Amino acid sequence: MTTEHFDAVIVGAGFAGIGAAIQLKRLGIDDFVILEREDDLGGTWYVNHYPGLAVDVPTTTYSYYFEPNPNWSRLFTPGPEIKRYADDVADKYDVRRHIRYSVNVEGARWDDDASVWRVALRDGTTLSGRYLLTATGFLSQPKIPDIPGIDDFDGRIIHTTEWQDDFDPAGRRIAVIGTGATAVQLIPELAKSAADLTVYQRTPIWVVPKIDLRFGAFAKKLFARIPATQRVLRWFTSSVYEVMVSVGVVHYKTFRGRGNISAADLSRLHRFVVIRDKDLRRRLTPDYDFGCKRPTFSNGFYRAFTRPNVHLQDVGIDHVQSDGIVGKDGTKVLVDTLVLATGFDLWEANFPAIEVIGREGRNLGKWWRDTRFQAYQGVSMPQFPNYLSLASPYAFLGLNFFNTMEYQMRLMDRLFSEVKRRGATTFEVTEEANARYLDRMTELLGESLFTQGNCASARSYYFNPAGEPTLLRPTTTETAIREATEFPLSDYRIA
Ligand code: NAP
Repeated sequence: MTTEHFDAVIVGAGFAGIGAAIQLKRLGIDDFVILEREDDLGGTWYVNHYPGLAVDVPTTTYSYYFEPNPNWSRLFTPGPEIKRYADDVADKYDVRRHIRYSVNVEGARWDDDASVWRVALRDGTTLSGRYLLTATGFLSQPKIPDIPGIDDFDGRIIHTTEWQDDFDPAGRRIAVIGTGATAVQLIPELAKSAADLTVYQRTPIWVVPKIDLRFGAFAKKLFARIPATQRVLRWFTSSVYEVMVSVGVVHYKTFRGRGNISAADLSRLHRFVVIRDKDLRRRLTPDYDFGCKRPTFSNGFYRAFTRPNVHLQDVGIDHVQSDGIVGKDGTKVLVDTLVLATGFDLWEANFPAIEVIGREGRNLGKWWRDTRFQAYQGVSMPQFPNYLSLASPYAFLGLNFFNTMEYQMRLMDRLFSEVKRRGATTFEVTEEANARYLDRMTELLGESLFTQGNCASARSYYFNPAGEPTLLRPTTTETAIREATEFPLSDYRIA
């Protein structure tokens, strides 16, 4: 039963949902609701609170372009500060009153007769909205590994997205499964006090040193009094990341992988300086190109393996028993706590995160899988009128979610303004524009690290299950922003 109608329904109250809400308000649309599955806002920065959590993009850059924060304590800010930033921005732009918490959205269906989206909730109610925006994030569906015997384990099992704050690692025998970006931050923290820590590595990860800075009272005062100083720093940190992505990923072929080789050398040097055991260094060395999988920054990860209480296990897990883990080589490690740093199910559970059915019954998830993963400008699909999917194939820009949001917010501005100017009720990307865009993305990816480099063994979530690298948008931030502000309006049917 449809109970309420809104001009817009946003799914997700993380940074993307908050950004979309701010943009709607700027466009004069205030009648909207944000539906959030958790009981607080902030998305990934609310859900994740494991020890060691910090952003791995400088926070000078990891913030809304229109809302610099002079109060960051460090260049690579700890997680709780970023959650506070989300709270502050939501308050400042009066977004909070639009959010409904602990709401599970089952799916959305386009009603062509009424020209509205019908959004079904798990409690049986249905809301309707003229516009639908899904801001469900890329890494929001935790992956629980299907390891034989895991259900028989008698100790504590903690997935990193459900960190138990009362858990004290002191004196525990801990196993961490996974060596992704999360594990790289968590392992040095657990290593400090665990009686025994065994790290189960399936695929090694490239780790380079983290050059962090503390922003003292002087810097904070300077950023607050003279905002241009922070803008200059933002320009600098953004440029460094932009060059890294351009040289190492997007234009890999042109630069013949030189940037990647240099970064890999830096990681090698880092391992050489920290770890004296040659065999351990070899086991921690990836055999795929730097950048195929998201590289990480840490000064503590390699060092943790030099402690007597920390062990690397890389022969694979055979099965879990009630009191430990048996490796593929038959050896058993006694464990009382199993930490699953196993990441997220991006392609199966997240694309899309809810069932979305457009015009003529087109089911988004099925269509993506029957054809190819695709989304015009990383947000629009044909047959899905008045819908922007902010977590789409080809949407994620470089290494920074806030750059992604910047171009998406600017695209909203251009598109919704035009709809308003024409007094229209619907917009929908044309099949031709979408196909053209997909062809271009495919062509650009042909020059990139993902096609030209050696990524076969990386097991990277940048690749979909069919092996295509359809997550990242292979352009610079500048190009994405220019396209978002200048795309031909004829790419959309606005009626
Ligand atoms: P992830 O990068 O996907 O890593 C998951 C790890 O678990 C991998 O090492 C994976 O091994 C392993 N794994 C998964 N299933 C397994 C199984 N059945 N058996 C053995 N090992 C298994 O996930 P993540 O570390 O949570 O990081 C995800 C992303 O979140 C990062 O890439 C980054 O973008 C973001 N992140 C950001 C920050 C930050 O900015 N502060 C911090 C943390 C994470 P394989 O590689 O062999 O699959």
